[in-house]
Amino acid sequence: MRLATLLLAACLLPAQGVAAETRIPPSALDTAAQLRERALADGTAWQVLESLTTEIGPRLAGSEADARAVAWAQAKLRELGYDKVWIEPVTFPTWERRGESAEVLGAHAQPLVVTALGGSPGGTVEGEVVRFESLEALRAAPEGSLAGKIAFVDQPMERAHDGSNYGKAGPVRSRGPSEAIRKGAVGFLMRSLGTTRHRVVNTGLTRFEEGLEPIPSAAVALPDADQLARLLRRGPVRVRLALDCGWTGADYTSHNVIGEITGREASEEVVLIGGHLDSWDLGTGAVDDASGIAITMAAGHLIGQLPQRPRRTIRVVAFANEEQGLIGAREYARRHSGEVANHVIGAESDFGAGRIYGFDASAPESAQAAVRDIAAALAPLGIEYMPGEGGPGPDIIPLATIGGAWAWLGQDGSRYFDLHHNADDTIDQVDPADLAQNVAAYTVFAWLAAEAEGGFGSAARAMQGANE
Ligand SMILES: [Zn+2]
Repeated sequence: MRLATLLLAACLLPAQGVAAETRIPPSALDTAAQLRERALADGTAWQVLESLTTEIGPRLAGSEADARAVAWAQAKLRELGYDKVWIEPVTFPTWERRGESAEVLGAHAQPLVVTALGGSPGGTVEGEVVRFESLEALRAAPEGSLAGKIAFVDQPMERAHDGSNYGKAGPVRSRGPSEAIRKGAVGFLMRSLGTTRHRVVNTGLTRFEEGLEPIPSAAVALPDADQLARLLRRGPVRVRLALDCGWTGADYTSHNVIGEITGREASEEVVLIGGHLDSWDLGTGAVDDASGIAITMAAGHLIGQLPQRPRRTIRVVAFANEEQGLIGAREYARRHSGEVANHVIGAESDFGAGRIYGFDASAPESAQAAVRDIAAALAPLGIEYMPGEGGPGPDIIPLATIGGAWAWLGQDGSRYFDLHHNADDTIDQVDPADLAQNVAAYTVFAWLAAEAEGGFGSAARAMQGANE
């Protein structure tokens, strides 16, 4: 995703106008320093994270828990003192996981730890496994060469602090199943897009290309993928893959949940921060993305505790259904497309709860001094100003595409793919001190952007065929 994000960042730099210099009043910088210290000592985000992951648990989009999460988010925003809380409907098709298993058959019979990819159809298939070292190798296989067989793409994903290897390995999940179908395969297995040696397995959405008949598609835990490779070195391996899952055929209406700390002067001008409320179903979605919800709800709350409201409105959005295609974020951008210029700047926390190490924003020349002021206020948190490094968070992309300015608060993702979309994504993986550092950064950023006099480059732009 990182590569796409970088390309997007380059083409989304706002047009240079003759704008007055954006400035941040010195008194706002003083308050930012106080907020930073207060946030580091504040437990609100941890309480929110615990509440969401404990009381709601996994939040698969369109599941029964989705509705509970929407009700939870509204109640939590009210409890945290937000001035206005409301919901906006988001409708999408629903996918369910009911059961899944896989086993090696024959002389070396044994179970394999697998999980269905989101969007996979159900069904039981049995066939000889053909291993490919990469998606490229699968692509190079002759047409029809996998007739009646199960394709197994065993492409590893290396650990990286910025998560960049997810962008490289991601197509195995998104495109692998369709490639396998074209070669005649009856089933698809892939080495899990994860970095943990635990016997857990990472799910995530796949899409089948138009005109292809979808096949059962699953990820295999890393130890099991290695086991399969060892078995294949000893001779042919037959596997039975049994998935009970699929699109239900029914649409579901969830909601983006929105809370505002209403601005004292320019209430129609909005600094947007947020995360996504949905999660995959295997863990409790603690790092993906209850942390983002907790960090941003707590940041708005801390600003709301000040004796007076910020100059502009702070808007916290808990986006619906990010996992199955930024569906809530697209609906938000569609619904608010007439207010892009008033979305002064937006930032989403959706890369876990690791410490923030870098800051960047899409601001034009006229706002560079203000951006450097924000960077200086973040520096005591160990955050470096890294111009040209970042990009909008996933749920900010639709808004950025139509002209919204964005900020990037880059989190250390070294451990993110140990947990991402798998059963280990639980609250005990989150470090409270790291979480508080995130809250401090979002609080400082949102406060200063709301107090700034002048904009950060948001301006309505015509769609130019850009997409995520
Ligand atoms: Zn996420």
